[in-house]
Parts: sequence; C-alpha cells; structure tokens
Amino acid sequence: MSIEQTLSMIKPDGVARGLIGEIIGRFEKAGLKIRALKMLHLTKAQALKFYLVHQERPFYDSLTSFMSSGPIVAIILEGDNAIQVNRDLMGATDYRQAAAGTIRADFAKEIEANLVHGSDSPENAQIEIAFFFNALERV
Ligand code: UDP
Ligand code: MG
Repeated sequence: MSIEQTLSMIKPDGVARGLIGEIIGRFEKAGLKIRALKMLHLTKAQALKFYLVHQERPFYDSLTSFMSSGPIVAIILEGDNAIQVNRDLMGATDYRQAAAGTIRADFAKEIEANLVHGSDSPENAQIEIAFFFNALERV
C-alpha cells in the first residue's frame, strides 16, 4: 500500500459540457478521496506556467489558450496508488487510443480537449498540487 496524492483538473471542455459530477463520481467510485477542490479560470500566463514542461511541443500555445478559455476544476485526489489509479480512469492522452470505459474514451472528441489532467509522477504531483493549493486549503 502506498497512499499518494495527485492533482486532477477537469478542463474547460469538461466544465462547459456539464461533466463535473460525472467525472468526480468516477473518482469517488474508484475509491479516491477528494482532499481539496476549487473552480477557477486560469489566465494564459498561468496556463503557460502550469504546462511549462511542454514548452517545446508544437501544441503548447494552443493547449494553453484552450486551458485558459474557461473555468476549470482543480482537485487533490488521495488514495492507494492514486497517481496511476487516476491515470487509468482518465485513459490515454489521445481519446482514440483510450481504453473503453475511461473518461477520455467515453467523452473526448479531440486530442486537445480531452476533459481531464492528471499528474504523471509523485514529483510532478507535489509541484502541481502546490501550484493550485496552499497549506490551509489542503485537508
Ligand atoms: N495535447 C495536444 N496534442 C498532443 C498531445 C497533447 O493537444 O499531441 C494536449 C492534451 O490536452 C494533453 C495535454 O496536451 O492532455 C498534455 O499532454 P500530455 O502528453 O502531458 O498528456 P496527458 O498527461 O494529459 O495525458
Ligand atoms: Mg501530462
């Protein structure tokens, strides 16, 4: 058993399409606990900072414009192996390759607007959690 925390985001498409409850329901049904949650609208500058790891990628400008196009929901999820459990619920980045029953396979219609973000390592989880939540906001 390894209790981890991970940072999830419901992206602007998920919020706009009314899928907040559907997505959070999947997290809870999978046994992940919500430890913090907030809705906010990232600026372009904030999105550029969050996705700095992708600054050399061709999709960096488009992705960060999309991520600042509307409100998002940031969530700290906690549970045994939470980083991988969340990635498994999300499905592959490209919805066409995502396993059946995953969030992206069930709802995504394009590779960029793919509904959810999830941390990919313990190191990045800590960086991404600290990006959104201060100590007072974490239970
Ligand atoms: N993305 C994109 N085109 C690509 C690859 C990624 O628009 O060819 C977007 C997509 O929204 C993805 C995000 O960039 O979720 C971050 O990419 P990453 O490879 O980290 O995928 P993730 O960890 O979200 O599965
Ligand atoms: Mg990623």
